[in-house]
Amino acid sequence: MAAWPKIVLIPIGHEDPMVVTWLKEDLQKILSASVKEGPPLPLSPHHFRKERNQYNADGMLSDLSSPGQNGDILTLGITEKDLFSPGLNFVFGIATMGRALISTFRLRPELYGIPHNQKLFRWRILTEAVHELGHALGLPHCEYPGCVMNFSNWIGDTDRKGPEFCYRCRRRIG
Ligand SMILES: [Zn+2]
Ligand SMILES: [Zn+2]
Repeated sequence: MAAWPKIVLIPIGHEDPMVVTWLKEDLQKILSASVKEGPPLPLSPHHFRKERNQYNADGMLSDLSSPGQNGDILTLGITEKDLFSPGLNFVFGIATMGRALISTFRLRPELYGIPHNQKLFRWRILTEAVHELGHALGLPHCEYPGCVMNFSNWIGDTDRKGPEFCYRCRRRIG
């Protein structure tokens, strides 16, 4: 897969620098893409909804800078805050053409009552990042359960599918 645009990672708020380092390494490896870290964005209080203790994903996504002129840059925002999108109780991430956003909040094993597991946490972050970047490139959901573009209804779906594209999705990108 040599067709990936350059990816720019944007930490939003106080994202753990370790997570950004993981993503830089892992995305570079799995997508053979050039990945760099851009200037962080402050967490905007406008997107916080007190009554649900969550941030509006669509609002946060629109704060990310616009993609490069020729679609040659994909921007990926990363936040540790819990996200929702109107009509959905929560989202792991969200994307539009050229821009993607993921939340690490629901990817932590501790949230599901199991012990801290860095390897699993890192794997989930990569999976959700690749999924949203796939959308940012224009890929729709894929019905193949082992494909990263399969829809994740809950964390078990994320763990099952992993960060790899199926043959068909890979061909659509290439
Ligand atoms: Zn999706
Ligand atoms: Zn697929």
